Amino acid sequence: MIRKVRRHPVQNEPLLFEISEPGKRAWQLPALDVPETDPAVALGEGHVRREIEGFPEVSEAEAVRHFTRLSTWNYAIDLGLYPLGSCTMKYNPRVNEAAARVEGLAWAHPYQPESLSQGAMEIMAALEQALAEITGMDAVTLQPAAGAHGELTGILLVRAWLASQGNPRKKILVPDSAHGTNPATARMAGYAVENIRSNELGMVDLSVLAAAVNEDVAALMLTNPNTLGVFETEIVRAAEILHAKGAQLYMDGANMNALVGIARPGDFGVDVMHLNLHKTFSTPHGGGGPGSGPVAVRAHLEPFLPLPRLEKTPEGWRFQYDRPQSIGRVKAFYGNFGVMVRALAYILAHGAEGLKAATMDAVLNANYIRKRLEPYYELPHRAPTMHECVFSDQRQARHGVRTMDIAKRLIDYGFHPYTVSFPLIVPGAMMIEPTETESKRELDLFIDALISIAQEAETDPELVRSAPHSTRTARVDEVTAARRPVLRWKPQQQS
Ligand SMILES: *Cc1c(COP(=O)(O)O)cnc(C)c1O
Repeated sequence: MIRKVRRHPVQNEPLLFEISEPGKRAWQLPALDVPETDPAVALGEGHVRREIEGFPEVSEAEAVRHFTRLSTWNYAIDLGLYPLGSCTMKYNPRVNEAAARVEGLAWAHPYQPESLSQGAMEIMAALEQALAEITGMDAVTLQPAAGAHGELTGILLVRAWLASQGNPRKKILVPDSAHGTNPATARMAGYAVENIRSNELGMVDLSVLAAAVNEDVAALMLTNPNTLGVFETEIVRAAEILHAKGAQLYMDGANMNALVGIARPGDFGVDVMHLNLHKTFSTPHGGGGPGSGPVAVRAHLEPFLPLPRLEKTPEGWRFQYDRPQSIGRVKAFYGNFGVMVRALAYILAHGAEGLKAATMDAVLNANYIRKRLEPYYELPHRAPTMHECVFSDQRQARHGVRTMDIAKRLIDYGFHPYTVSFPLIVPGAMMIEPTETESKRELDLFIDALISIAQEAETDPELVRSAPHSTRTARVDEVTAARRPVLRWKPQQQS
């Protein structure tokens, strides 16, 4: 039944404290050839650490091997497919890391004079221009540090623009398929949130939208393609409905991996949007940053962009602070520069044709998975998908096997789980985004694993329900583990 199982290395590593033996050292020094001095006398008592209770004593080889083995417990994009939906966990070419580490860039200091920063400023300007071209928008700020930060910046721009016309308005419309950051952003920007129902195709229902838009509505926040992986084909009409009432269309561009080089939000009515450079444009993510969430706007929102703006003068680039309508800074200095370097390297290395090819491969890979898994898993929304597909656990649930169980069982097959239970409008959701960087071979391994798990759900549901079986710990209480992680070794807990 289980085919092509790839297991993690054995995970029976003891704590460093458990392999400790008194007197072991990871170093060896030559005999002292100067008079011995009491460090407390030489340095002062306050600078000397006497005894550390329970400090582990191991050899160099033991220390190196211990931490190297621990490092293999983590799943990483360098180990295999990372199919988290709405995340674009793609492989990031190493050459972009090399570009970000070029000495003059990696060591540039935000306080160094503009005359010494011309290269860095040129890179930022070139990236702004490339992103404006890719999105079809008029201007870009690189300052926000992540997607959610870009959302907040974008909605603050909308607010400032509306306020400049006399009324910032009260509400933001958010579809029921939206990422959780969208309603959170609206609240943080001082707006009430109103939910918009999706239709049976998983798209925004235009009649519901038209009924909801009035002079109190500041904007609709729409992800396109949305979190079902479905392209909102009626987005032009949605934009018209909003604009007719003076409201704005905000696009959550986290899923731009499905559009780059093919379709431009600026061409289908979007007023303001953010990009996730750490998703679409080649920066490793998942470890908590740094990221970058540039915001692209149409010309009417440009005067409100964060300070400073880059300006080209006959003497070179300079930072422009004299912008009375700006919403001000949203981040210290200029944003996460290293991420920008990677993004520009990625864009220039691909070129227009390469970016388009990457998008088409991402869509092809998702549809390949969708087609091959359709016989085994329920597909609740049948509209054609773009870069990700969303199944549900409906068929497996009849055997008491839920999306979380299937995800945990994938770990035994050597894969990172897909996104579990999101989007919320699909009960038991299994959201899969393969990205363009996966080969057919890797996709087939993943698909075979999921087919095998679907069969296990019928023949041996308990096996799936109790997974994972190949890891050191099986299922932890995820809320407690996240909120109260046990990171410190306590001597009294040693048995
Ligand atoms: C990832 C994501 C975000 C948030 O981006 P962060 O960089 O994690 O803040 C917002 N919306 C969607 C649809 C996303 O997938």
